[in-house]
Amino acid sequence: MEKIKMTTPLVEMDGDEMTRILWQMIKDELLLPYIDLKTEYYDLGLEHRNETDDQVTVDSANATLKYGVAVKCATITPNAARMTEYNLKEMWKSPNGTIRAILDGTVFRAPILVKGIVPYVKNWTKPITIARHAYGDVYKNTEIKVPGPGKAELVFTAADGTETRELIHNFDGAGIIQGIHNTNKSIESFARACFSYAVDTKQDLWFSTKDTISKKYDHTFKDIFQEIYDNEYKAKFEELGITYFYTLIDDAVARVIRSEGGFIWACKNYDGDVMSDMVATAYGDLSMMTSVLVSPSGVYEYEAAHGTVQRHYYKHLKGEETSTNSIATIYAWTGALRKRGELDQIPELCNFADKLEQACIKTIEDGKMTKSLSLISTCEHPVILNSLDFIKAIRETLDSLL
Ligand code: NAD
Repeated sequence: MEKIKMTTPLVEMDGDEMTRILWQMIKDELLLPYIDLKTEYYDLGLEHRNETDDQVTVDSANATLKYGVAVKCATITPNAARMTEYNLKEMWKSPNGTIRAILDGTVFRAPILVKGIVPYVKNWTKPITIARHAYGDVYKNTEIKVPGPGKAELVFTAADGTETRELIHNFDGAGIIQGIHNTNKSIESFARACFSYAVDTKQDLWFSTKDTISKKYDHTFKDIFQEIYDNEYKAKFEELGITYFYTLIDDAVARVIRSEGGFIWACKNYDGDVMSDMVATAYGDLSMMTSVLVSPSGVYEYEAAHGTVQRHYYKHLKGEETSTNSIATIYAWTGALRKRGELDQIPELCNFADKLEQACIKTIEDGKMTKSLSLISTCEHPVILNSLDFIKAIRETLDSLL
């Protein structure tokens, strides 16, 4: 069989620990035998980030802006323990944070549904996609630990020097304060990314904040969404028969639980962080969750929603067998390859991505899975495979589908 040719390189961001091991297995078993894989490779493994003073992360994000599509492996966000483990020069920032700041995007996360893995919420028969605003708020905060009595104020100095002040609190003892921000530009991009994604995937869009309490901050999000909807998307939504619906976050939570799924739930940065983990867990687990960062300029970065699976990596290093679920990482590749295929008009590439996803689902539905999946599956006699054999089983299914 002739290999599928690509015209534009994918930006490939390699990562850390167990997911780095899976990354190579996926390429060797599921991609290189079928595709003349064209990538521009960036090693975001922690050692190389440290060697390059994290320049490689910035370079990979800029390459993504240039080519339009990236696929990213999970990476370590350093903490104190990692400083010693990897003998780091500095506690480098989260690569995802750095990349998101450069691409200014919105992250869409959706569960991968398979028969035999029943959501904890029984009425969720369709996937719920969480759209997480990926800029600002508490992720770009400034904090002070207040040592004792004193006055905390919010001060804005305009370009012309005029000051606006608001009292935060008169402290009579120790406490804490935090300043957060967002920009209209980023909120507008967030809104457009959500409306466009809803149109692309023909799903309803829900948006929720706490605007009754946060009368300026959250209310601005609500107003910007409404304005952009009315001016730019209302007609398109009506034509497709989909709806835009705003409600308070507490009301949204209640409605989401009672829903059957099948819509996009747009959340502010922190809400999206928390709710995507809740939704993922309720649908099965984090390793059955796709994740894509979509920038306002139409740039896509695909990744798995989970981390580097550190515990399995240490077992792997000791020569012990691991049974790590590679599905989300495979879906990062299929998402990126399909998008590349769409942009470059290579239907074979899109078809291959579809087939590989079908192979993943069929393999699990046929009862072949990893240990973590067997724990949440209703399959009576699952065949539990190790990391490599699971990927090989998917390859066998893929061959039967191609
Ligand atoms: P993790 O997602 O790696 O693991 C959390 C739990 O889920 C563990 O019990 C793990 O065994 C299980 N798990 C996750 N993915 C699995 C899979 N594919 N198969 C089987 N089990 C799986 O998160 P963590 O342990 O909190 O973090 C480990 C490292 O990953 C940290 O250094 C963190 O900084 C990094 N991290 C990276 C990303 C990213 O790059 N997107 C996201 C989260 C965490």
